[in-house]
Formats: sequence, structure tokens, C-alpha cells
Amino acid sequence: MLEIRNLHAEIDGKKILNGLTLSVPAGEVAAIMGPNGSGKSTLSYIVAGRSDYTVTAGEVLLNGEDILKLPPHERAARGLFLAFQYPVEIPGVTTHTFLRTAMNAQRKTRGEEELKTADFIKIMRAAADKLSISQEMLRRPLNVGFSGGEKKRLEVLQMTLLEPRFGILDETDSGLDIDALRVVSDGVNALRSKERGFLVITHYQRLLDYIKPDSVHVMSNGRIIKSGGPDLALELEKHGYRDIVANAA
Ligand code: ADP
Ligand code: MG
Ligand code: MG
Repeated sequence: MLEIRNLHAEIDGKKILNGLTLSVPAGEVAAIMGPNGSGKSTLSYIVAGRSDYTVTAGEVLLNGEDILKLPPHERAARGLFLAFQYPVEIPGVTTHTFLRTAMNAQRKTRGEEELKTADFIKIMRAAADKLSISQEMLRRPLNVGFSGGEKKRLEVLQMTLLEPRFGILDETDSGLDIDALRVVSDGVNALRSKERGFLVITHYQRLLDYIKPDSVHVMSNGRIIKSGGPDLALELEKHGYRDIVANAA
């Protein structure tokens, strides 16, 4: 489903990805762990289509199609969703309006009719309740004054409403207390299905107790240096990254 082959990329002349190869079959959750600065967020931005990075070699295939030439909205239309490590604040737009606009834009690209207001409210309320997001929060400007945990829950609400084919979660666990972590993980787990894949980027093993990955990959210096099953995350938790990184160097 998502296949990344020998990806090299740079920003402002600085090489950040150095031959990254990774494949995530449909129905699976792959976790990427790795020290700060190893290029995890960069990878997610490049897959989602942020334009400030230059891909110098390699391919990113989504369901067999090379998506690197597509603009971000075309990638989203094919079912790609990125939950940001640092969600953007938009002072002039209420959260409610943002969600509705995003859902209707997606329906338009699929040739479906716009949601009626009453239907939108019903769908949004049900999804928000499950993520412990209050109606008051949805009336506030997008992410403005939201706590770290509220921003992360809102990212998962967006993902729930947009029902992507492939979701990338970049440190969605950072800033969450243990209860919020459970709420967010339940939201992600509810979306797991045979047709859907996920890439879960995290610093800590703890998230993977709740979102059980099929595979775990360690990233260092812009490439995957070790892959394994869920046990690899436990091993990292115990011993840290240092030995694995040193052995790969
Ligand atoms: P991670 O998410 O694994 O912590 P990042 O992808 O955020 O890592 O960053 C990888 C490396 O790329 C870091 O060394 C970071 O400083 C560098 N980097 C990211 N963005 C830029 C930029 N705009 N200009 C220069 N270097 C950058
Ligand atoms: Mg980081
Ligand atoms: Mg990051």
C-alpha cells in the first residue's frame, strides 16, 4: 500500500533523508521510532507533499502509484492523511467550519454531494464525543489556545471524519497524559481495517502498548537502520537507541 524506495531528500542544501526504504502493506500499522533529528517529521512532510523539501532520488508509491509528482491535495484525494507533530493554528476559522470544509472538499473530489448541515453536526458530534472533545472546543478558532493534548485529539478527530486510506501520525502521543493517550489510541484503533494502513511515528514505546504495531522500524540519520516486530520497541525502551545507532554506523 505505501512503498518508499531509496528516498533521498534535502532542504536548503542539507541532506536529511539518505536512502530510506520502507513498505507498509494494507491493513498494517508500522511504527517508526528514532532519536530526535533523525528525519521522522521530514519523512512525513515529504510523503504528504510539503513543497520546501527537494527529493533528489527515490520513489513513494501509494497503492502502486508514484505520488511524488502530485500536489498535496491530490495525495489527500487518494486517501493520504497526515496528523502533524505541530498542528497549525488558524485564528480566523472556527474548528467546526474547518472540519466541515475539509469534509466537503473531500466529498467534492470524490464526486459526492455536500453534507447537509444537520448530517454534518450529527456525524461530527458522535466522533467528537468518542474523543472527549467538547462542543465548546469545536466553536473556538482552529487550534488557537488549545493545549498540546487538545490539538492531538483534534488531529485524530479530523482523521476519523476523513476516513483516509493511509494515515500518518507524527508524535501524536507527545503532550498527552495517560487518559488522553488511551482516548487517542482508541480513536486510531477504531479506524484500523484490512484496507487501511498507518505509519505511527513516536519517541516512546508507551503509545505502542495501545496501538499495537505490526512492524517497528528504527530511523537514524535519514534511513531505516533496523526493522522488527513489536518486541523491537520494547528492546529500544530498555536499551535506548545508542547501541543500535552505533552498530549501524
Ligand atoms: P525528527 O522528526 O526525527 O526529530 P526532523 O525531520 O524534524 O527530525 O529533522 C531532521 C533534521 O533535519 C534535523 O537535523 C533538523 O534540524 C533538520 N531540518 C529540518 N527542517 C529543516 C530546515 N527547514 N532547514 C534546515 N534543516 C532542517
Ligand atoms: Mg523531533
Ligand atoms: Mg519530528
